[in-house]
Amino acid sequence: ADTLAVMLRSIILAAARSSRMEKLVATAPVSRNIVSNYVAGTRTEDALRVTRELVEGGLKVTLDYLGEDTFHTHQAEATRDEYLRLLASLRADGLTPAAEVSVKLSALGQRFDEEMSVRLAEEICAAAETSGTTVTIDMEDHTVTDTTLDAIHRLRETYPGTGAVLQSYLRRTEADCREFAAKGSRVRLCKGAYAEPESVAYQSRLDIDRSYVRCLNALMRGDGYPMLATHDPRLVEIGIDRAKWFDRGPHSFEFQMLYGIRPEEQRRLADEGYQVRVYVPYGDEWYGYLMRRMAEKPANLGLFLRSLGRK
Ligand code: FAD
Repeated sequence: ADTLAVMLRSIILAAARSSRMEKLVATAPVSRNIVSNYVAGTRTEDALRVTRELVEGGLKVTLDYLGEDTFHTHQAEATRDEYLRLLASLRADGLTPAAEVSVKLSALGQRFDEEMSVRLAEEICAAAETSGTTVTIDMEDHTVTDTTLDAIHRLRETYPGTGAVLQSYLRRTEADCREFAAKGSRVRLCKGAYAEPESVAYQSRLDIDRSYVRCLNALMRGDGYPMLATHDPRLVEIGIDRAKWFDRGPHSFEFQMLYGIRPEEQRRLADEGYQVRVYVPYGDEWYGYLMRRMAEKPANLGLFLRSLGRK
């Protein structure tokens, strides 16, 4: 069953990278319900409305303006502009520091002009600082792990609060966690959402979960600020257990989950006094994001495919 799941996942993730599939899906009468389960909406106002609701309910937020793999300067700059607008509005609405932003370097042109992507990310970090909040740099596939971590080191020289993301499916990540577990370092630990070759990544669920626990131990034992991004009930329990073991108060780490996934669990953890941050994506470019969510839970795919055929 594990082999079948791995195969299905890589097929869906291949489709996530296919522009032909994207056209098909984007022009099909996709039930808005499926998209709106996972995405706050297309406009800045939608992002602000959802953020306000979550923050009023005692949750924290990280906002993602959807987009990735940009190959045009004007598009990268437009993404920067949207983040600047968003950060100004978050501050004006009193939603910082409860809300921060998540940024993908590939949306800022990392794949064709790395220097430009770091420069644009710097501008977003500066705006976040002015708004009294922080930026976390999302992690994408393994071909950009090194350049992304290098960029984060550079950003942290001026903006030490800049968050990094490490993925437990990569074989290298346990070592990265040790390196990143230093004082003041904000690290989001997730399993990883891309199709990766066996040479660099664990393939089976069991190996990925075991690696997650080793990484979690390294981060919770260290002096940084771990951000445990998972919906996996077993890993959440282990996070709670390690916090006790390493004598960490509820404000010295946080849980993170995606908008629309296990919202009742997000509430439960917050009610128990844990910090919970919800990752809220918004914008038009929802295709790649949605397909990665489908790959995580193929049971959702049937629902999605049926909605493609519906008018
Ligand atoms: P899984 O084993 O996938 O799921 C555990 C349980 O959670 C499932 O049994 C199910 O009950 C529930 N669940 C999980 N996914 C879904 C779903 N789509 N729909 C419904 N129920 C579901 N990945 C990156 O590669 N880079 C990033 O920068 C990144 N940032 C992230 C930020 C946050 C806040 C989160 C929560 C995840 C992020 N991810 C990122 C995605 C992550 O890598 C995983 O792909 C994703 O979280 C699924 O793994 P899981 O730990 O939830 O465990």
